[in-house]
Amino acid sequence: MERHYARPRLVVSRCLEFDACRYDGARIPSPLVAALRPVADCIPVCPEVEIGLGIPRETVRIVRGNDGDHLVQPATGRDVTGEMQSFTSGFLDRLPPLDGFLLKGGSPTSGPGGVRVYPSAGRSAPIGRSAGFFAREVIRRFPDLPVEDELRLGNARIRDAFLAAIFTLAAFRQVESGADPEDLARFHGNNKLYLGACHRARTGEMGRLLAARARVPAEELFARYREMLGAALARAPRHTANIDVLLHTLGHFRGRVSDEERAHCLRLIERYRAGHAYLAEPRDLLRSWTIRFNEPSLVDQTFFAPFPPELALLPAEATGRGRDLWRKQGATGEED
Ligand code: SF4
Repeated sequence: MERHYARPRLVVSRCLEFDACRYDGARIPSPLVAALRPVADCIPVCPEVEIGLGIPRETVRIVRGNDGDHLVQPATGRDVTGEMQSFTSGFLDRLPPLDGFLLKGGSPTSGPGGVRVYPSAGRSAPIGRSAGFFAREVIRRFPDLPVEDELRLGNARIRDAFLAAIFTLAAFRQVESGADPEDLARFHGNNKLYLGACHRARTGEMGRLLAARARVPAEELFARYREMLGAALARAPRHTANIDVLLHTLGHFRGRVSDEERAHCLRLIERYRAGHAYLAEPRDLLRSWTIRFNEPSLVDQTFFAPFPPELALLPAEATGRGRDLWRKQGATGEED
C-alpha cells in the first residue's frame, strides 16, 4: 500500500548538489540532496554569491570583536557583515511557507552551529563556535522548523528525524490549507504513534486540543496545533519509545502470525534495542503485517513510513552508523 507524501519545501545551501559555488569553485555532492530533489521543492541559495563575493573567492570568517561578531574576508580586509545581514533579511522576508532548512555545515555563512569564531582577521586560533551569519538569522526567525546541516545528517538517527519532520510538516501544511478541523483530527490520528514516540506529553495535549475542536475557532485550532507540532517534532523519537511502539504493534498480531514469525519479530526488536539493527528492520516487518491483515488502527500510521522509502536507501557512507552527532552541532568541516 503506497502512502502519498506531500512535498516538503526546503531552503538548501546551493553548493550542496546544486551548483559549483563554493569559495574554491567546487560543488559538494550530497546523496541526500540528490535523493530529496525529486520528492521535495528545494529553494537553493548561496548567500556569499548573492552579496557579490564571486566564484572563486577568498574565504570569509567570523571575527568576534567588542562590538559583536563580524563577517570578514581576511585576504581583502573587507567586512561584509552589513551586506550579509541585509541580503539574509530580504531573502527570508520573501520566502513562502517552509518545512525546513538543509544547510552547509562548518560554513561561517551557512553553518547552523559549531562554526569557528576567531579573535581577529589575522592568523589566530579559534576562540569559540557559533552559527554562520545566514544560519543564525534562520534559527532566530524559524525556531519551530528543522534546521540541519549535511554533516549532522550523515548520522542515521538525525537524518531520519529530519526527514520525518519535514514530511510531517509538509503534510500538515496541506491539511492546514483546507482549514477543516476533521482533516486535522485525521492527520493527528495517523501521526499519533510517530509523534508519541517523539514527545508523548505534547502528543497527549494535541489530542486533547482536537477533542475540543468543536469549541475552538478553526484559525486558533490550527495555530495552536502547529505550535505543538513543531515542539513535538523538535525532538527525535526516543529509542525506548520506538521499542514501546514496536511491542505494542506486535501485540495487535497475537494469534494471527505464527509463533516463529512472532519470535523472529521479537529478535529484530531485540537487535534494535541492543543497537545492532536499524529501526527500519523490525518496523518494516510490522508494516508488512499491518498491510497483510489490513489492521485498521495501524495501516495509516505514519510511524511505519514517515518519509518516502527511497530516502532510506541512501549510500552506506551517508548513514553514519555508529556515529552519534546528536548533541554536537556541526563541529567539523571546512570554512568557505
Ligand atoms: S556554504 Fe558557502 S558556498 Fe555553500 S551556499 Fe553557503 S555561502 Fe554558498
